[in-house]
Amino acid sequence: MRPNKAELIEMLSLHKPDELEALYKQAYQIKKETVGTKVYFRGIVELSNICTKNCYYCGIRKDNSNNNRYIISKDEVLEAAEWAWKQNYGSMVLQSGEREDAWYISYVNELLQDIHELSRGELGITLSLGEQTEETLKLWQASGAHRYLIRIETSNPELYKQLHPADHSFERRLQTIRTLKKLGWQTGTGVMTGLPGQSVEDLANDILFFYDEDIDMLGMGPFIPHKDTPLGHLVEGFDQELALENGLKLIATCRIALKDINIASTTALQALNPTGREMGLLAGANIIMPNITDTKYRSNYQLYEGKPCLDENASECVHCLERRIESIGETIGYKEWGDSPHFNKRQ
Ligand code: SAH
Ligand code: SF4
Repeated sequence: MRPNKAELIEMLSLHKPDELEALYKQAYQIKKETVGTKVYFRGIVELSNICTKNCYYCGIRKDNSNNNRYIISKDEVLEAAEWAWKQNYGSMVLQSGEREDAWYISYVNELLQDIHELSRGELGITLSLGEQTEETLKLWQASGAHRYLIRIETSNPELYKQLHPADHSFERRLQTIRTLKKLGWQTGTGVMTGLPGQSVEDLANDILFFYDEDIDMLGMGPFIPHKDTPLGHLVEGFDQELALENGLKLIATCRIALKDINIASTTALQALNPTGREMGLLAGANIIMPNITDTKYRSNYQLYEGKPCLDENASECVHCLERRIESIGETIGYKEWGDSPHFNKRQ
């Protein structure tokens, strides 16, 4: 059933601690009934910070010259993939800045084929590589990737315009989502909360957008200002606690409204509170994307400020994460892809 907008606005407007607690509890109950309490890991490799775009909020936008630009070599990506596979992670994610040149498209394609081969097809592969043509998406799909994450960032085209330069197109981003769905990818999108100029009604419309586009997965998180961006003036006065609350509230409301989709508890939550991702699980999320990028690259992949685990590598993180998940009474779906039940029903 299409969610009721007034009810969404009501949930998204809650602020009293006891009311928020009740919202998270309700979302957790629905999570239990629809997707269960198994958490799925997707090890994420931040493949490259080279980006052709200039989103006003993002720390790796093209015009930020305070980054050393890198692209991880094939050997290193395969090493990370092998590590994730041997840790029994069900899946991995390749994320990077956006580019569409022929060399890059075929580089990604080779990576997909090699990862598929080394893990004997066992490791699920998610891509988060921005807007691409139908032809490219078909190529990558044929080489073994099956999920794609591309956030619409905001479903309000006017607000989108305010957050991007004139040559960035809301329509094209939307088209990529629709093409992915048409080609049969398991499709994820999402938005940031707390964007300058964003209203509660915008967020309610975002959730209706997810419903109308029949989305399988969501990755959402609070906007966290970065000093070397056009929105850098917002660093001063940024309220971490409020940002965390808004991020959790959006997860909970999406779980209640959309039910059987996969929802990631994102790193941005962890940036705001060391246990932010566990809080996300308790508010209705069921996916965690542990960062498995070699630590030497991480300071150059700061989409926002305060990204955690700058100098802690994946093998150091793995046991503490496991313990923390067990401490909230959940289990980890090792060796399982953990596709969204929503996607499976659609097939
Ligand atoms: N280039 C690809 C993938 C990398 S960016 C793309 O744009 O899809 C991944 C996500 O990081 C973006 O979708 C955006 O929602 C998020 N992001 C960028 N800057 C951010 C910030 N300052 N605070 C929080 N999230 C941010
Ligand atoms: Fe590039 Fe993605 Fe950042 Fe936009 S959000 S500047 S596309 S990395």
